Parts: sequence; C-alpha cells; structure tokens
Amino acid sequence: MTAAGAADGGSAVEIAAAVAAGDRSAVEIVDAHLARIAAGDGEIHAFNTVVADRARERAAAVDRAVAAGEPVGPLAGVPVALKDNFCTRGVPTTCSSRILDGWVPPYDATAVERLEAAGAVVVGKTNLDEFAMGSSTENSAFGPTRNPLDVTRVPGGSSGGSAAAVAADFAVLGFGSDTGGSIRQPAALCGVVGLKPTYGAVSRYGLVAFASSLDQIGPFARSVADAALAYDTVAGHDPRDSTSLPDGHRPTVERLTDGVEGLRVGVVSEMTAPELRADRGGAFEPAVIDRCHRAADVLADAGAKVDEVSIPTAVAGLAAYYMIAPAEASSNLARYDGVRYGARQPGANTAAMMTASRTAGFGDEVKRRIMLGTYALSAGYYDAFYGKAQRIRTLMIREFDRVYQQYDVLLSPTSPCVAFPFGAKADPLTMYYNDVCTIPSNLTGHPAISVPFGTGEAGLPVGVQVLGPKLSEGELMRVAAALEAAAAAGGADPTGEDTP
Ligand code: GLN
Repeated sequence: MTAAGAADGGSAVEIAAAVAAGDRSAVEIVDAHLARIAAGDGEIHAFNTVVADRARERAAAVDRAVAAGEPVGPLAGVPVALKDNFCTRGVPTTCSSRILDGWVPPYDATAVERLEAAGAVVVGKTNLDEFAMGSSTENSAFGPTRNPLDVTRVPGGSSGGSAAAVAADFAVLGFGSDTGGSIRQPAALCGVVGLKPTYGAVSRYGLVAFASSLDQIGPFARSVADAALAYDTVAGHDPRDSTSLPDGHRPTVERLTDGVEGLRVGVVSEMTAPELRADRGGAFEPAVIDRCHRAADVLADAGAKVDEVSIPTAVAGLAAYYMIAPAEASSNLARYDGVRYGARQPGANTAAMMTASRTAGFGDEVKRRIMLGTYALSAGYYDAFYGKAQRIRTLMIREFDRVYQQYDVLLSPTSPCVAFPFGAKADPLTMYYNDVCTIPSNLTGHPAISVPFGTGEAGLPVGVQVLGPKLSEGELMRVAAALEAAAAAGGADPTGEDTP
C-alpha cells in the first residue's frame, strides 16, 4: 500500500476542478475510492462505518448538477472521511465507544453541512481512540487502526482512522478533532498534513465534546494546498457554536505562494534541545529533532529570519492539560448515563442502572480520565489541581503572546517519535508524553500544522510542527508549503551533519 497520490486520484484541488469542468465524473472518483476501501480496509481498519450507497447518491447529484450547468462547490466530488465523533444525520456516530451503540444523530455537524454544501462526498466515519482519548487508536472499543505505511505500527491518534484513510487514499481529505494533538500527531505518524485551527475558527457544533475549551476540528490532506482548501471550506463564524469567532476566517489558499522571505521563525528550544535526544538520555528520537533543525535551515535559506527561542512554560503544558482535559471530560461525559444518552444496562434502581450502564459502556482509558477529572475538580483538591492547571494555562498564554510579538511562527517536532509498534506505550504516562509538543497550542487556543518532513527510524515519516498566534493559519500554510516543496526536492533528508 502506498501513501500519497494514487493513480486514479489527484489532489482535492485537481479533482474538484475536473469534476466542476465536467472532465471527470464524481461517481467514478467515489467508486474508485470505495473499491480501495473494500480491498484494503479489512487490514487497515480506518473506518467504523462506510456509507457506500449514500456516497454514490451524493456523487451522482454532483454529476447531475454539473450536467445541468448548476454551480458546484470548491470540493465537488472530493471523497472525504470523517472522524466518528462528528454528528452525521442518519449515520451512526459511535466515538468508538460501546456506550453509543445504536445511536444515530438527528442532525449534521456544521462542518459536515459545509463540506457537503461545497460538493464533498462523505465516504465514511473513521476509527478513533474512544471519545478521542489517546494517541494511537488502541483505545478504540472496535480495535485499533493500522498504519498504512507499516501495519505493525499505530497510525497515531486519536484521529488515527482519518489520518490512515488519507494516507491509504481511501479518501482525498480527512477530518478530525484535536484537543491535545489528535490531528497533528496522527498526521505526522502517517506522513500527511494535519491542521489544528485557532480555537473558534471552525464550528464545534455537532462535534461530540471531549474537553470543550480545547477541542477544534481540522483537516488531514496529502498536500498543504489541499489542507488549505479543506480548512477554508469549513472555517468561519457559526451562530450555533457560542465559542465561534465572529471574524474567524481569513482565507488561506491565496497565501500558499507567498513564500517565507522576511518571516520571523523561532525554533522552540524546549522541544529541540540536545538533552532531549534519546542518544543523550532524553525521550525524543534523534532524527525527529534533526529534521526540525533541518526545516529551520531550509526556511533560513529561503529568506526567513530564524532564531532559537526559549519558552519555559511550554513543557508545563503537559501536566496542565492532563488536569484540564480530564476535568472537562468528566463533566461532558456525565450525559452518558443510560437515560439522556448511552446504551442502558439493567439495574435495581436508577443509581444501579447508571452505574451498570457506564461500567459496561466505557473503556479503561475513558474511566481513568473521568476519575482523574472528578478528583481534580473535587472540593478540597480543586485549587491544588484544577486551579493550578488553569494558572499554568494563563501563564502559557501570556508567554506565547509575548513570544509572538517577536516571531511570526515557531517550529518544533510534532511528535517525539515516528509511528510506534502496537503495545509499545502500554503505560498511560508514556503515551501522554507523546503530546508534549502539540498540547501548548490547544491550551493557548492557537493554530498549528504538522507537515511531513523527511524520515526517521525505519524510514518512517517525521512531522515538523509550525505554530503561530491566533488566526495565523495563512502564515502556517506559507511555511508548510515551503517545507513541503523542500522535502519534495530531497531537502529534508539527512545530511552529513546530523545523526542518521
Ligand atoms: N492524546 C491526547 C489525549 O489523549 C489528545 C487527544 C486529542 O487531541 N483528542 O488526550
């Protein structure tokens, strides 16, 4: 199985243009993807649900509109895979949890509405760590997704199904949610592009809530241009989400060719320091740090002003996140009680019924988060845990705001390692550490993108993360496009100077 660019495919940009011009049929494009899913997804397990008939009907409607000379949107005929925590009317939405067995949402998420209005064709709902809690999809109640680049390894998570679907060309675009890294980390591990937009830039209406102050919807794509098009399609104010930014969208597609000349780039020392390297006793794969420095060199060569920058609170984000996210989750997941939501188990009285329903319905990691969060919020501990975490979050926001007065964007690795074998991070703290570079942008509400840049252990892809201030998605796309071009020209590969 190959990653990017299948023979019949093309990019989202190319497909949409060809379909709109009547040169290619949306039905044929969708059929080709459905055929690949049928042939390959038994092994990969990117999807929880494939909606083949619905997809063919939608594609036929796009073709009819083209034939009738009606306008079709910017994603006409583009096959899209949606993480299975997006509400889809008439299509089961499971969050890869037993507790949502049999639940079919009566409405579409705003992002889904906007994609379909743009002519995109949803081919299915993708696997995730249960309720988006995890970094490998191993916490799915339905079994893990396998990485299409090496099926003995994880695709990352929690949006591992969407990342794998795009890497395997089961879909041209994927969508996920990112609370602590769940778009960027699987993008890095599957060798695709993944964007976590500014908090409030994309509506969360119809996204099943994990940690509401951190959750954001964003795209996966095989190119930066496709990610920009996908982001532009779903971004923008939505009155149905009270946290949606009123001025939340600055188009990014037109920024792709702006270059990086004069851009001020800071390489985050806390995420690239020599002592982090595994060959010097740290927890980062050396190649991941090498690729990040190489990316900085590429940008400097292209005219950016590149510096090292220290952001001491950045790494404190990990501890703060693992208080704040479980605290919010413990509240958000209270609704799965066998009454309001959730498959009901019998019990002698109401309390016993709810306990039985939650005990049977939730997996171990979800239970662990609910317990952590409930504890962090309990009277007597609130100040010491939740309160302290919130103070760290405030400090981080201030520190990043200060840094962004001097830098337009920052660089770091996306993940401390490449795709790892199943079971390799069995202890929860080892798994949590995977998010150390991605969490800061969730806590600050800032956007960040992961772009494939060279390879690490076993020839597997490395992702470089580009971070920026509020609504800097355009700058992120400029930088990501420059890195993508350099990588395509062989500029990401190890040089004599770094450790292979
Ligand atoms: N891996 C992180 C967690 O388990 C992030 C998850 C996410 O972004 N949804 O919480």
